[in-house]
Amino acid sequence: MHRVVFNRFPGGVSRCLTMSYDDGVPEDIRLIEIFNKNGIKSTFFLNSINLDRDGFMPSEEIKNIYKGHEIACHMMTHPRPTTIPGTSKLVETYEDRKILERACGYPVRGLSYPFGNYDDETVEVIKSVGIEYARTTVSTRSFDLPKDFLRWHPTCRHREDLAELVEPFLAPGDDLRLFYVWGHSYEFSRSDNWNIIEDFCRRVGGRDDVWYATNIEVVDYINATKALRISIDLDTFYNPSAISVWLTVDGMTLEIPAGKTVKI
Ligand SMILES: [Zn+2]
Repeated sequence: MHRVVFNRFPGGVSRCLTMSYDDGVPEDIRLIEIFNKNGIKSTFFLNSINLDRDGFMPSEEIKNIYKGHEIACHMMTHPRPTTIPGTSKLVETYEDRKILERACGYPVRGLSYPFGNYDDETVEVIKSVGIEYARTTVSTRSFDLPKDFLRWHPTCRHREDLAELVEPFLAPGDDLRLFYVWGHSYEFSRSDNWNIIEDFCRRVGGRDDVWYATNIEVVDYINATKALRISIDLDTFYNPSAISVWLTVDGMTLEIPAGKTVKI
């Protein structure tokens, strides 16, 4: 019997870093420069009602500003979801998704709960309008994959001893590790501590043993992994999805290309 282990991200690496920033403020531009310099990718969650308002992002330009990263929903008016009726939850998500899609030009598939606030009804509603994952504000301080993408608890907020987690994340090991950091870029200006994120990105960025992904890229990859068809003898793999899947078979890293069958 072959030994098949699902401990690889794209490129055959076992670590992934994904970033997540809320509210769509001008400081995002400086943050994106830092991410880009270090090959790091992020998702940015925007409230569409704030587009073109003072202190927020111009709708005409968000497509270019966030190029190479992901734009996702943060509900239209930044409500507290548990305090509003189901219909309002629906409109808040639906309208946000629609307006952001018109501005960015691709299907918007993610959301972060405003104030990290949600209940079961919120989860049902966002799912019904095509949202595939949603981030909470509950720090796990762990590198485990989420059990439920619609209740996706991050590793930590950047202001919570971020540097302390770098070493365990990069430490040798073959286990799958997902490092998920969230925050608001304006916090760096308010607290005058841009060095926190600059130092972090310098240490964790630009490595060939880490996969840098937006939030939706993580979702798509994990879904593709779960969609893999495997023979009972664990020696034939069919990947019906549109992206390559990587795994370890008998200790060797194996790529199953999109749409292909691989027999070992
Ligand atoms: Zn927010």
